Amino acid sequence: MAKSLLFRQLFDADSSTYTYLLADPVSKEAVLIDPVFEQHLRDRALIEELGLSLIATLDTHCHADHVTGAWLMQQAVGSKIGISGRYGDMVQGANYLLDHGDRVAFGDRTLEIRATPGHTDGCITYVLDDHSMAFTGDCLLIRGAGRCDFQQGNAHTMYASITEQIFSLPDYCMIWPAHDYSGRTASSVGEEKAYNPRIGGQADETDFVGYMENLGLPHPKKIDIAIPANCLCGRPEDGKMPTIADWGPVRLTYGGVKEIDPQWVAENLGQVHMLDVRAPEEFNAELGHIGNAQLVPLGELEGRVSEIPTHQPLVAVCKSGRRSAQATVILKKQGLKEAASLRGGMLSWNEANLPVEKA
Ligand code: FE
Repeated sequence: MAKSLLFRQLFDADSSTYTYLLADPVSKEAVLIDPVFEQHLRDRALIEELGLSLIATLDTHCHADHVTGAWLMQQAVGSKIGISGRYGDMVQGANYLLDHGDRVAFGDRTLEIRATPGHTDGCITYVLDDHSMAFTGDCLLIRGAGRCDFQQGNAHTMYASITEQIFSLPDYCMIWPAHDYSGRTASSVGEEKAYNPRIGGQADETDFVGYMENLGLPHPKKIDIAIPANCLCGRPEDGKMPTIADWGPVRLTYGGVKEIDPQWVAENLGQVHMLDVRAPEEFNAELGHIGNAQLVPLGELEGRVSEIPTHQPLVAVCKSGRRSAQATVILKKQGLKEAASLRGGMLSWNEANLPVEKA
């Protein structure tokens, strides 16, 4: 029987980087390939919502165009950091120094490491156990190939990497690259063998190298920041983790909602302004309301923003946490940034047996 896989492709629009989440749905063990520093909270929210346990972040190479989110994830969830050992002393702080032939297991699944240098010396292609997927980093791209004109780039080496390590995979093997700048998301070995303009069709090594040595690309805009940061696996100079709010343990959901847990709110009711956005008839119904909560139904919120005090951070509440989430969006548009939605609303509040008032 074929093994199952949970798979997500994530995108960072600023650097056009793809991040890949792979998990064994049974054991829930997961790996994250090429996380992006600025997307840490998004990636973490998804991993949490899917109930996964992240074993490792795996970089395909030491990137020059964005900073890896590996260190942040290690701090947040204890995942190990994997990157090629071929960078030697250049890269500090990794847990797994990977090389050709190594395997990384997550639950029942494994990724095989194939060394595919050419873009940099330490470029790795991660190949799924059944050869149905290859994560090629900046080696083979969709109808392209990673540049070879800086770091330790070498077009001859890349030619060998692609033809020997990637094109030797079955034609149906899907290609998932580190970047695409034209909105393309995936390809396959068969497709790239036939149509890749640099190395597909009848192209030989001379054709490929000639093409690659005449790309005439500008230097990546973030290279001076990205390479030093990636040499520390993305550990920021100040060693600080990104936070959503400085007033409380506010979390960002994968859906982009700022949420806070009922328990914390109950213990800190004096520090926040409670805004109940339900209909007046719900306010005193069986779920009750939180003492001191101000009632402004969602439909009236935009017109009544001036009635809302701003000296304290605001926690919006409704029945289930959906309308209150939209309330934080409306309030943000009106300039009220320190607002979060009560996670699970009055339903969760009541479930936790927290105090309510009823008229
Ligand atoms: Fe790169």
